[in-house]
Amino acid sequence: MRRILHVDIDAFFASVEEIDDPTLKGKPIIVGGTGERGVVATASYEARKYGVHSAMSTQMARNLCPKGIFLKGRHDRYSEVSRQVFDILETVTESIEKVSIDEAYLDITNKEESSVYIAMEVKKQVKKYTGLTISIGISYNKFLAKLASDWNKPNGIFEIQETDIPQLLKPLSILKVHGLGKKTALKLNRIGIFTIEDLLKYPLDNLRPLLGELRAIEIYDKIRGIDNREISTNRERKSYGKETTFSMDLQDKGYIMEILKEFSCEIVEHLKEQGKSARTVTVKIKYEDFEQITRSHSLEYHTSDIRTIFDIINKIVNSIDLSKKVRLAGISLSNITHHQQMQLDLFNYF
Ligand SMILES: [Mg+2]
Repeated sequence: MRRILHVDIDAFFASVEEIDDPTLKGKPIIVGGTGERGVVATASYEARKYGVHSAMSTQMARNLCPKGIFLKGRHDRYSEVSRQVFDILETVTESIEKVSIDEAYLDITNKEESSVYIAMEVKKQVKKYTGLTISIGISYNKFLAKLASDWNKPNGIFEIQETDIPQLLKPLSILKVHGLGKKTALKLNRIGIFTIEDLLKYPLDNLRPLLGELRAIEIYDKIRGIDNREISTNRERKSYGKETTFSMDLQDKGYIMEILKEFSCEIVEHLKEQGKSARTVTVKIKYEDFEQITRSHSLEYHTSDIRTIFDIINKIVNSIDLSKKVRLAGISLSNITHHQQMQLDLFNYF
């Protein structure tokens, strides 16, 4: 049986604003596009009491909550805090799937400690280092872990065990089935399906024409507590590098620097094409006697700016002993992230 955690930061953007400006604490904070076509990215729990929620138009949020504090949001700051949280998560396990800026799955199957203990430790650490509260769902697959993290929000821990299934799921709205959208829900409502219990009565063959072949199977399984999706850590994409062995051993710092810069240009182009940026630059040097050294430097933020990366290469190469001849030089960029998180895209509406 696998052990999966789903970690979700509570009202992320709004919480960061509260932490950075304590006078906002407990007030209805709405972060998102503030213009006419703006969309709410995050609402604080106080704002949610007025019916405000993410993805709602800012205009509607203003109507519902005229006294709300509407903030445009600070993307860089959110990325920074998100990274602090992920740094903590990474101390738990390497088996992490980043779903978005404030959400991740962790596979803790191979850990010795109990799931609840690990979840409580993570919450404690995140609170201590960032001031944020998070909610954690514990279960034996991704679907149920995500459902569980939503159970006791905010600041919750909830575990769904195999013996809870199907009883626990039965009374839930079909909208709680991640992957079953609002449109599909409406379609199902029309034929009298509102809860998971209703949906459980439908054999797979009857779901196929309603949901399509693949989704029918997916949903049919999920409501029975079956979800075999792996945690996808994208491990192969954790770093991008290039190195070369020179045709003869070199003692030419200027030339080595040029080669490394050329390589970094290629890598950065490649990253940019994929909408990614990096935070850590690593230089690798192998001397003529095959002794090898690697030196890394991490920025406080992710970048795909070539000048910034050149500066780091300069700094690193200048700190390396090049009194010996070099047979190989290489560079890699790691701590990769996507430029724009999906949720941050919401800001583009303002
Ligand atoms: Mg969240």
